[in-house]
Formats: sequence, structure tokens, C-alpha cells
Amino acid sequence: MSPKYVYFFGNGSAEGRADMKHLLGGKGANLAEMTNLGIPVPPGFTITTEVCDAYYKNNQQYPKGLSEEIEQNLSRLEKLMGAKLGDPDNPLLVSVRSGAAASMPGMMDTVLNLGLTPDAVNRLMKKTGNERFVWDAYRRFITMFGDVVMGVERHSFEEILDKYKKKAQVKSDTELTTDQLKKIVEEFKAVYKKKTRENFPNDPKVQLKKAIDAVFASWNNPRAVKYRQLYEIKGLLGTAVNVQAMVFGNMGNHSATGVCFTRNPSTGENKFYGEFLINAQGEDVVAGIRTPEPIANLEKEMPEVYKQLVKYKNILENHFKDVQDIEFTIQENRLFMLQTRTGKRTTQAAVKIAVDMVKEGLIDKKTAISRINPNELDQLLHPTFDPKAKKEIIAAGLPASPGAATGKVVFSAEDAEKWTLEKKEKVILVRKETSPEDIGGMHVAKGILTTRGGMTSHAAVVARGMGKCCVAGCGSLHVDYKTQTFKVDGKIIKRGDYISIDGSTGEVMLGMVPTVEPGLSGDFATLMEWADDVRKLKIRTNADTPTDAKKARELGAEGIGLCRTEHMFFGENRIDSVRQMILSAPDVKNLKIKITALEKELAKATNNKTDAIKKELMQVKKELKEPLNLYTSALKKLLPMQRRDFEQIFTTMDGLPVTIRFLDPPLHEFLPQEEYNQKEMARQMKISLKEVQEKVSALHELNPMLGHRGCRLGITYPEIYDMQVQAIIEAACNVKKKGIAVYPEIMLPIISTEQEFNLLKDNVHRIAKNVMEKKGMQIEYMVGTMIELPRAALIADKIAKHAEFFSFGTNDLTQMTFGFSRDDVGSFVPDYIEKGILEKDPFQILDQEGTGQLVEIGIKKGRSTRPELKVGICGEHGGNPQTILFCHKVGMNYVSCSPFRVPIARLAAAQASLQQPVSQATV
Ligand code: PEP
Ligand code: MG
Repeated sequence: MSPKYVYFFGNGSAEGRADMKHLLGGKGANLAEMTNLGIPVPPGFTITTEVCDAYYKNNQQYPKGLSEEIEQNLSRLEKLMGAKLGDPDNPLLVSVRSGAAASMPGMMDTVLNLGLTPDAVNRLMKKTGNERFVWDAYRRFITMFGDVVMGVERHSFEEILDKYKKKAQVKSDTELTTDQLKKIVEEFKAVYKKKTRENFPNDPKVQLKKAIDAVFASWNNPRAVKYRQLYEIKGLLGTAVNVQAMVFGNMGNHSATGVCFTRNPSTGENKFYGEFLINAQGEDVVAGIRTPEPIANLEKEMPEVYKQLVKYKNILENHFKDVQDIEFTIQENRLFMLQTRTGKRTTQAAVKIAVDMVKEGLIDKKTAISRINPNELDQLLHPTFDPKAKKEIIAAGLPASPGAATGKVVFSAEDAEKWTLEKKEKVILVRKETSPEDIGGMHVAKGILTTRGGMTSHAAVVARGMGKCCVAGCGSLHVDYKTQTFKVDGKIIKRGDYISIDGSTGEVMLGMVPTVEPGLSGDFATLMEWADDVRKLKIRTNADTPTDAKKARELGAEGIGLCRTEHMFFGENRIDSVRQMILSAPDVKNLKIKITALEKELAKATNNKTDAIKKELMQVKKELKEPLNLYTSALKKLLPMQRRDFEQIFTTMDGLPVTIRFLDPPLHEFLPQEEYNQKEMARQMKISLKEVQEKVSALHELNPMLGHRGCRLGITYPEIYDMQVQAIIEAACNVKKKGIAVYPEIMLPIISTEQEFNLLKDNVHRIAKNVMEKKGMQIEYMVGTMIELPRAALIADKIAKHAEFFSFGTNDLTQMTFGFSRDDVGSFVPDYIEKGILEKDPFQILDQEGTGQLVEIGIKKGRSTRPELKVGICGEHGGNPQTILFCHKVGMNYVSCSPFRVPIARLAAAQASLQQPVSQATV
């Protein structure tokens, strides 16, 4: 049996069904379903997406037998309508519309009023007695056919229309007379001939054939291809083509056309919502030529029709169990439904609708959970730009941290602080990139905009942690600190000018764009509770301050998965002590080595040499005094600050685990680079500016990301980690005394060997034991590691013999696996994506193929030597729904993400459980 290419619908029964979207497209499948439900739909037929697929695979040739099938279905339609395509006495008019399985609004082509010829025009004028309507339909048909089917630019027709309107001194098309429309049709035909070198076809069969070709061809027009790329629409066969009898909403005052939603798509309120236009065709509603009336008015204008419309919309919503977006036409008091599809809605509406529908018994909780796109929950947690506001977009960067911010441009953290604190201004901090020096300014700014760096750049990570709006890596902006301006697209924006940035889209806009505040509703909380009942993964947060921790807990975090201790040092005063510690540490170390060597030499020395050695030893010990003093005093200053922070964090997270990662700064992030900071260091350390500069330059590394960072610092300068253990355990004892349940998890960064881990772990236990003995208390704590280097993943079985938990640091693991610097990806990753080498930025969505393999190996090997090993992820990927699904599948125990992504992760984890109920997780 040859395959079936055409599916008929009409007269109460259809060959297709709603679940045949893949074959009939969304529009065709639902037209069939509505017909089967007994809803009035103009009859017609759908040519399948398989035909589109075959057409492209077969060098734009249609499969055999298709034209016969179209013929048969056309005859069936003609019989049903009592009219014939091309019959001068009784012409049938049809619409030809595209419709793929996924909705691609406005991307593909449609031809209306097909079948009009001079004969048909005459006949229709007699039949309807409405000459104007017929000529209007004819000129619309020539425009659509010329544009869509033959590629004649629409403006060629529009120019003629404008010329006539100008001459007649009227504004709207509807004011043109029949005579004027007749002349316009003549001119349209002449343009058509000039541009196509053919006469406008008067044979409706030719019109139909060409229109079907054009709809299939539109599947691959550049804008449809781009749309599919943007919305990641993949795996479809192509578009279907729907040929349907025309119904007219522009036949007079008893005709109308409209669009409605079964519930309010903006608020979610369960109230019929929509609009209509009397005496109009569908395109008029979309084009906004006249202002449509609210749907409620239809009740007054056409009460019977309104009653029917309400009945059908209720049938449709109950049937599809979701909000429907419906198109309808009323032709001389008869209602026809032209389309129904799942209604697009705001996130706020989506949550309300899902919860309401469960309460109404229409759907179950699992369906409600799976209907919400976790990424979109962001919109409920941050202010957003008023969708009605006008926007002048001047550039776009990476949507690094969601939110909407408006403020005056400043180019330094200093200005940001001054302007906000002293002048009470709202500012946007614009930097080429940010560093810890900018932290104060970042904190007070409404938003942060950088020209360099990716989704895991300093600006992005810190902003997300703060829940602050940030657009990063906006390469088209040229910042000039000297002139305090930035240039974009020929425009110059000065310090003090207003801009607005959208951290959810990456857009940068000129001027002040009004925002709307988020409204956390009870429905949102309800949905989250349902998600919690389903998910297997625990959700933790990356939080470095008590404020972040508090926010995250409010949003449902079940612990801290990453507290970056270096971020705790960003604040003023503290950064100076950290710098003092880093700048004095090498001297202390080197001089101590020298002393040990001299002491050994002295022990072995003969009499005549001892004096000289003793002298030198004294000299070196003297030299050590100053740097040692600076080093220990810096550590002493930092200890109580750290202890206080931990006490506050432990208190906030009472009863929940807190993973604290030891200092891990790539040194360049912490060295004073600006001269005014260097001067301040010189003052504090009582040395010259030159000496500070020499120390900075001695610590300069060519590859700081691969340099003296992470546990390597702890190995060379053990006092730093010792201070941190002391602060953690002392803080734990202090809060435990107050009755707070505290579970510190100490985490070592950048581990690549078993020996590194062991050495540092022993130190942790030694100091912790010491503190606990002094305090006379016992603290339950764990020591574990980050797995963020490929080597660590590969020898995870060895590391797990000593480490009590693993947390995958996928920022560094991605960096090290690809060999892509995480701070420089902005300059080439976009090209990789554009050229199809990479599908996604691997710093945003975990690369499962490569980096993911290391994660899987790490978990398997780790659990081979320690089956109860607790495993999580704390890289930025931990808040990404696709990555969360992966984490669920590979059996992690938790994911950790920035505070504002916690609800997103809760929902994504629930969806992952629904998608793969039997988890390998050993939770
Ligand atoms: C990581 O590397 O994934 C991580 C969480 O650590 P950081 O981003 O602080 O290097
Ligand atoms: Mg890291």
C-alpha cells in the first residue's frame, strides 16, 4: 500500500487526530481534532510533513501519487462546499497555510483568498452583493500570492496602495472606494507581470499548485531556519500544508474575526480573554490597522455567537487540558474555529494556571510540574522590564545574571560607591572586566556590564551570587576609561548617562526603561512543594556571605554546597589584609628556608666558620622579623573576621550542612594592580611603593589559572589553611554552644594527587583536634575535595580513600578539559557556536560528551573505594536544568547553585526525577 499523504477533515469527521502533530503539523492535527469534536471548522485537507521531507530529500520533487491524492481531496472538499475551484458560476476560495509540529509563529508562509479570478470576482459580487469586499479580497490575494509565491517584494504593492491613499486623501485602506480598488488591482497585476515576466495566473489549479510549492519552500527560508536555530527546534520532518475553505469575517457588520485565550495568558486568571474586529480579515487584527474590541463586547454585539464561542472554548480547554489560543471567524453570524493551539503565557501565568488546573482536577501534580520551564522562573525572582515600555537596544552581551537594572553609567567601583552613597544615585557599573577590587562598587551598583569575560567570569559569578543583574562579555562596546565613555555603533555614552541592562536577555538599552517588581505568589510556593515531593537530588547553594545564605534558605536551599572563602575577603579592610598576607608570604617562606639551611650548616660547621654563620643567621632572622610580623598580623586580622562570618553562616544554616572551600584565588585576582591600591599597601606595610611593585611583579604569573592557586597555596603557605581550619572549628564550637546544629564540610580545591589531599587533610585534623581540645567540645565535620582537574577525576578511587565527599567544580573542570581559559572564552566561543563546532557554551551547559565523561568516571571510581561517598556539583552548571538532569542520571546526591537559581534547580530536579524515575543515585 502506498503511503497516505493527504488527510481530510470536514463535516464532523476527520482522518487525523491531535496526537498526529509530527505528521500533520500542529495546525493540521488540531483542525482534525476540532472537527472530530464536532466543533465547526471550515473543511479542508492537510498535506503531511512527510511530503515536505520527501520534497527536500528528493531534489524538490514530490512523491508519486501525491497530485492524485490532492485532486481526490479537492473534489471531496468541493462536493462538501457545493462550490468548485475555478468554476466561474460557483467559485470555491481556499486558504493555503503552513503548519509544522512546533509552533513557529509568522515564520512560514500563508496565502488567503486563493481561487480568485476575474470570473470569480464577478460571480462573488453578484452572490454577496458586496463589491468592495470582493475587490479588497482580490488585491489582498495578488499581494500575498506575489509576495509569498513569486517573491515580488511586498513594498512594490504597498507603494501603489500608498499612492492611491495619498491621492484620495485617506489614511486607511478601508476608506478606498471600489473603483479605486479596481484600479489598484490592475496596477498590482502590471507590477506582478513586470517583476515575474508572467501574467497573474487566472487558473486556480495553477494558483493552488504554486501556493503549495511556496509553503513547502518556506520551510527553509532564512527566517524559518534562524527561528529553528534560536528556539532549538530539531528533529522535525518539515511543514505540513493546510488547504481549507475560506470563510470571511469581512462580509459586513454580522461578520468578524478574532483571537482568544481560554484564560488570561498574562496573569493566569481563569477568565475568558481575547479580542475581535467586526467586518475584518485575520490579518487586520495582527496588523493593528484598527483597534480590536475586548471579547466581552461580543456578548452584546452577537449574543448567540458569543454563547457558542464560550461553549467551544470550554470544550477545547477541557479536552486539551491546557490553555488554548484560538482563532475564529464569524461569517454572517456563523461561527467558525480556524485554529487552536496551546496558549503561550508569562511565567507568572504558567504557575497560576498549573496550580489552578490541579485544584480543578483537570491535571495531576506531575503534569503541573512538567509544564513549567525552570529557566523562566527567573522572571518571578527578579524585577523585569515593563513589557509595554519602549526600548532602544544598543548592544547585547551574555545574559550573565538575571534581572533588570537602570542607572547612570560609571566606569569605576570608586565612582559607583561615591555616587550611590553620597549622591544617592542609581548606577550601572561598566567595566572591561571586574576584579575583587571592584567588589564594593559591584555591591552598590544596580547592575554590572562588562565587555570581556564569559558566564563564569568574575563579574558573572559574583553578580549571580549577589542576585544582581549582570550583562557580561558585551564585545561591541568600546570602553575608554580615560575619557570615561563607551562607544557602541557610532554612539558615545558618557559617564552619568542613563542606560538599562537586562540580565535575562543580555540586552543593553539607552535611557531609563521602567521595571516591574516580582510578585512571589502562593501558587509558586505550592508548585515548589510539589516539586520537592518528587525530586531525588538535594539542592544546595553557592553562598559566601550570611546575606546570600539567608536568601538561599528562603528560596529552599538545603545546605551550602560551596562557600568560597576568598570571596569573603572581598570587602574593604579584608582585601588589604589578604593582600598583605599574600605579599609577605613568599619572603617569610624563603627566609625560613634560609634559616633552616643555615642552622644545619652551623651544626656541621668547624670552629673557624661558626662565627660567620652565626652572624649571617642573626642577620636573616632580623630580616624575617618584618615580613613575619606582617604575615602573622594579616592572618591574625583575618582569623576573627572569618570566624565571625562562619558563625553567622552556620547560624543562618542551622541544621544544614555547610561546605567551606579553602582559599583558592588565582593570585592575579588578588594582587593590587592599580597604583592607588599599591600605594595603600605600601602605607600599610610601611614599605615603598617600588617595593610593593616589585613584590607584585615577583608574584606575577603567566598563567594564573594554572598557577599558584588552590591547594598549592596551602602546601607552600600552610599557615593560611591552618588559620582557616581554626576559624571554622572555633566558629562551629561557638554556635554549637548556643544550641545551633552545625555540620561543616571542609573542602580542598584544585587537588590533583592523593598525596596533596592526604598532607592537607592531616593538617586539618591536627588543627581541628587542637581547637576542639581547647574548647572541650566535639564537632562533627568532614573533609572532602573538589574534583575540578581531569587528573583528579581519573584517580578518584585513590582520592576517595581519604576524601569523605566530592564536589565537582565544573568551571575549572571545563576549563581544564577543553583547555579554554574561562576568562577569555568571549573572544572565540561565539564563533565556535556560530560555525556549529560547539552547540552551546560549555561553561553554561555542561559538555556531557567530554567533561561529563570525567564526571562519570570520577563518581564511579570514587564510589568504588568509598561506596557511601557523597557527591555534588558546585560549578555554575549546578543551576542549569539540562545539567541537573545529567547530575540526576549519574547519581549525584546534590547540586549547588547561586541563591536565585535554587527554585529553578528544585523544579529541574523534580522534572529529572519524572523523566528518569529510577535513579542510580545512592541517596
Ligand atoms: C569550579 O571550578 O567549578 C568552582 C566551583 O570553583 P571556582 O569557580 O571558584 O574556581
Ligand atoms: Mg574552581
